[in-house]
Amino acid sequence: MKAGPKADAFAELTPLLERLAAFGADERGAVTRLLYSQPWLDAQTFLAERMRMAGLEARFDRVGNLYGRLPGSLPGAPVVLTGSHIDTVRSGGRYDGAYGIAAGLLALDYLKRTCGAPRRTLEVVSLCEEEGSRFPLAYWGSGNATGAYRLEDASGPVDMDGITLKAAMTSSGFGRGDLPDCLRTGLGAFVELHIEQGVVLERTGHAIGLVTTIVGQRRYALTVSGASNHAGTTPMSMRSDALAGAAEMIAALERAATEAGDPLVATVGRLEVVPNTPNVIPGGSPVHAGPSPRPRRDAGSVRRSDA
Ligand SMILES: [Zn+2]
Repeated sequence: MKAGPKADAFAELTPLLERLAAFGADERGAVTRLLYSQPWLDAQTFLAERMRMAGLEARFDRVGNLYGRLPGSLPGAPVVLTGSHIDTVRSGGRYDGAYGIAAGLLALDYLKRTCGAPRRTLEVVSLCEEEGSRFPLAYWGSGNATGAYRLEDASGPVDMDGITLKAAMTSSGFGRGDLPDCLRTGLGAFVELHIEQGVVLERTGHAIGLVTTIVGQRRYALTVSGASNHAGTTPMSMRSDALAGAAEMIAALERAATEAGDPLVATVGRLEVVPNTPNVIPGGSPVHAGPSPRPRRDAGSVRRSDA
């Protein structure tokens, strides 16, 4: 292995991540790159160009997944795919998703320059969506690649501004019939480099970890019902305070998860207090329990949503 090109590959990583972080950056350095938004499109366009500069065959599929391909000499051999997702949560970090794409791109670039054409085809992917931050569904990118989603599924989901997934996709130039179909076959392996989104490796002093299982999520939206009344004139004995009830539920949930021990975790990530006024006893408090907020669903009893 030659020292020069390897050193080059590492040297390019930080500038590439900084360049990617500029797409959707705010003044505090956080990144918001929601699916089919302009920063998202700019980032994907930049990456396509960067892939071409590295000598990869860059192509978008119908939903906006971006692939960079380094063709192998063995026809029909299963493809080795690497990469991650380009979308972010609102005010997200600069490494989530981007790190796996940048690392994959530079790895292919490095291998091409130092070893020439591979025997097996290598590809890097910038998946269009993983987070579920804009629309109430997640894994839109990989789900279309594996067949878990179909293009027709874009008609249903609506973002907070009332824009359908289909309309957003179309306005970004995707969803067109002339673009390559999303479904991928012939994949032999998928490798994803990802930052740790927690503190375990850091606290235990490990530089890297290998994933053996992945988090399974259950999300629930609960409505705690009470009775709104004047905060100054309603005696404590005559109240039905939904927020106070929700607070007890949250504390109980935390205790239960702590007692159950690792690896179980439980999170209440969102509260909507009604009417959310200092001098009114909260009458109804939809409590959203889950690892990240989801758009509010209609009020109802305990409801289980997707994983
Ligand atoms: Zn991620």
